[in-house]
Parts: sequence; C-alpha cells; structure tokens
Amino acid sequence: MSFSSRITTALADSNLQVALDGNFERSRTQRMNAMAALPNADLVRDRARAIRIEALSRLDTYLLQLEAAVQARGGVVHWAATAADANRIVLEIVQRKGDVTSPLVAKSKSMVSEEIGLNAALEKAGLRVVETDLGEYIVQLRGERPSHIVATAIHLRRSDVATLFEKHLGLPRTDDIPTLTAAARKALREVFVKADIGISGVNFGVAESGTLCLVTNEGNGRLCTTLPKVHIALMGIERVVPTLADLEIMLRVLARSATGQKITGYTNLLTGPRRRRDEPDGPDELHLILVDNGRSRVLGSELAESLLCIRCGACLNICPVYREIGGHAYDAVYPGPIGAVVAPALGGFTEFGELAGASSLCGACQEVCPVRIDIPTMLLKVRSAHVEETGGDAAWLGPAMKLWSFAMRSLPGYRLSLWLGRLGTRLLARNGWVRRLPGPPGGWTQSRDFPALARKSFRARFVERQTTDDRRQTMDDKRKT
Ligand code: SF4
Repeated sequence: MSFSSRITTALADSNLQVALDGNFERSRTQRMNAMAALPNADLVRDRARAIRIEALSRLDTYLLQLEAAVQARGGVVHWAATAADANRIVLEIVQRKGDVTSPLVAKSKSMVSEEIGLNAALEKAGLRVVETDLGEYIVQLRGERPSHIVATAIHLRRSDVATLFEKHLGLPRTDDIPTLTAAARKALREVFVKADIGISGVNFGVAESGTLCLVTNEGNGRLCTTLPKVHIALMGIERVVPTLADLEIMLRVLARSATGQKITGYTNLLTGPRRRRDEPDGPDELHLILVDNGRSRVLGSELAESLLCIRCGACLNICPVYREIGGHAYDAVYPGPIGAVVAPALGGFTEFGELAGASSLCGACQEVCPVRIDIPTMLLKVRSAHVEETGGDAAWLGPAMKLWSFAMRSLPGYRLSLWLGRLGTRLLARNGWVRRLPGPPGGWTQSRDFPALARKSFRARFVERQTTDDRRQTMDDKRKT
C-alpha cells in the first residue's frame, strides 16, 4: 500500500482519530507546563545540544572510552556494524550460555531492537520473546509495531485493550484501567521470574564511567536488567554522552519533553554486572552491543544532525500531520517528523524518502525539540534526495512550477493568474467555499474546503481606499480654506 493510501486509511479510521485526539492535547500541555517549570530552560536546552554535538564530534573517542569503562567494570562490549551482526551477536550470547535453560527472553523497550528486527530473529531461533513495557506488550499481542517512539500504543483506546486482554489473557471484559493493568502485571511477573535472558535498550551510555542509563516509567526495565542471569543491552552508537554531569543535563530535558514529567518513574543507572556472588541482584553477565547500522554513514552526511536525537517523541506529539495520521501510516520503525529523516537516512531515500512529504514545514518540531534539531531543513534535503533518486516528481509539477514562477516574476502574469484564480474559484464555490478542487490541487479539498478568492484583491482595495482618503482630505482642506 502506498503512503498516500495509508494516510487515507488512517484519516478514515474513526477509532484511530478518537484515540489520537484524546492523547495529544494532554501530552502537549503537560510538556509545556513541565518546560515552563524548568529554571533557565533555554540555557539547559542549549547545554543539552552542546553535549550531543560534542559527543558526535568525537564519537570514536567517546565510544572507545565507554568500551574500556564497561570492560573495567566486568561487562563485555560487542560492535555490530549491521542489523544482521547485532542479531547474530545476541543469538551467540544466548546460545553460548550453557546454563541458560529457559527459552524465554524478557525484553524492555528498545527502538534499536525494532530497527534491527531482533524479535523475529530470536523467534526464528526458537526463543520466546516477551515485551515487558505495557505499551510494547499490547502491540506485541496485536502483532503490530509501535506507533510512537515513546507512547507505543498511543493509537489505541481503552476498549481496544479490553478486547485484546479478553482474547489473549482470558480476562472477563472490562474497561477498568487498574484491572487491565493488574492482568498485564500478573502475566509479566511470570516472565521476569522465568527468563534467563533480559534484553534492554540504552537511553544514554556514559563514556567516563561505563554507566548505562535506562529511563522507564514502569519498573520493567529494572526487572529485565537485574533479575535474569544475562543482561544484553542494545545501544545505537550515537547515544553516548561524555560524563555523568552531562547525563544529568540530558535527563533534565528528556522526561519533560517526552511525558511532561520532571523525571521518569525509574531512572536506572547500570554500571557493570553483579560484582560479587552474594550481591542480592544484578545479572551475572552484562553485554553491551554497540549498533552502527548506518549511523556512521549518516554522521558524514547532510542529515548528521538527526543523530542528536534523544528519542523523546516531543516532535511527534506536536506535529500536525502525525497527530492526524498516527505512526503506522509511516510504515517505518521511526515515525513522525524525526522519523521522516531517520528512516530514509538509515533505510534509503528510495524506500522512505516520500515520508518527508508529510510535513507542512511549520517548524513546530524544531521549536519543541529539546536539542533544537533543525528538522524542517533536513526534511527539505530528504525531499530533494528522494526526487533525485526516484527520477523526479509528478509530471505536472515541473510545468506548474514554471508557470508559477512566470506569474510571480511579471506584473501582467501575476494579475492574469489572480484574475484566473478568482474566476475559477468563484465558478466552483458555493457560499464562498470550494468543496472540491479539480486535478492535483484536489488533495487540498480531500479533508477541508478551499476559500474562493475575494472579488477584489488587497492591492485593488488598498488603491481604492487611498483614493477615497485622498478625496476626503482634499474636501477637508477646501472646507478649512
Ligand atoms: S527530534 Fe528532538 S523532539 Fe523529536 S524525538 Fe528527537 S529529540 Fe525529541
């Protein structure tokens, strides 16, 4: 299905529309209030941006420092150049562990694991993977991918979850949130206890100490990383920060931008595996897999700024397009404004470049981004690369732009185009509004009406008004003399 067909389907899905409408207004207000309550918010954001730029500018140095620090604390570091390498490394770790008897893997939320298709690879090898973040658990039961990088199941309503749990957990149908949550908790507790392998993502890896920071709101991240015998952490190579002091700055903006909280329910700082056998918790082994999968190529490209992203999701929540179509319409692991840059940057302009068209370029994404990423400019670059790679845009666009350029550069052309526009829209309009425009502009009227052009242009009215004022002034002057 093409992107435009997926958009049409999403717009016609009334259930999705209600779910999206209900969720986004709340998240926007919460984020605004949380940022307003942050002292010197602008300075903190500037500092956060500077930290990310510094990390990327000396990425090799910081990654090697991180590797050494993790190893010094008893962890094992692996480097994965591609998605296939990362999956292979995870499987090798699991299969090498002779004392791992359970085929069950407890997983905490990780967008990188979605990116590399880890679940499918593990399941193919006979393992059972259970997502333990509630939203991820819900979408996994539905056989879907997350529709948002933070609020995974934002496209669903409570009644959808009730139907799902009735079918999969045998829960008598109820819309009561505590009952639904308790049912999921009961099912997942069993997973935490039985699983020998825990897999998580990493929000930030701290180079100076080898600390892996995991930010969650449900405590499942902590259980996945401390109860199983082996913890495997997947980290995109760009997620390194130089120092613990830098991490503190990043945490100040992350939760506020993502969920409007000062800090999330659980901020886990994991530094190495269990040190002594008698320590009450922690894995016997900690493996950190540093995933490249195209990132080093992006680092040297025009889209390098996208690597500053800390996956807070604020740009998705504010985007007028994402708010209407949701994440699944993008059919990419990373949806929304930043997804429309990251997906083509990592996956190619031919396949994902058209996603950049789903933007009004209003700039709201850049405005809310805690690290001030210039997403609109990158969207334009993606659009242009997509056109170049796919051999051009619609056939009518070239002549139409030439006509437009002629009209805008010559006064008679401009006047003629206005006259034609006025005539055309007045012929098509009813009560001042055109309900359906013909041809390519018809996309505009698919979801809203187009105003008929005014009988008189602003310029004509301005000249008229000036003439009247001048006349009045002359009469006044005459009266005075
Ligand atoms: S681009 Fe900015 S706002 Fe969007 S997810 Fe990344 S950090 Fe957050």
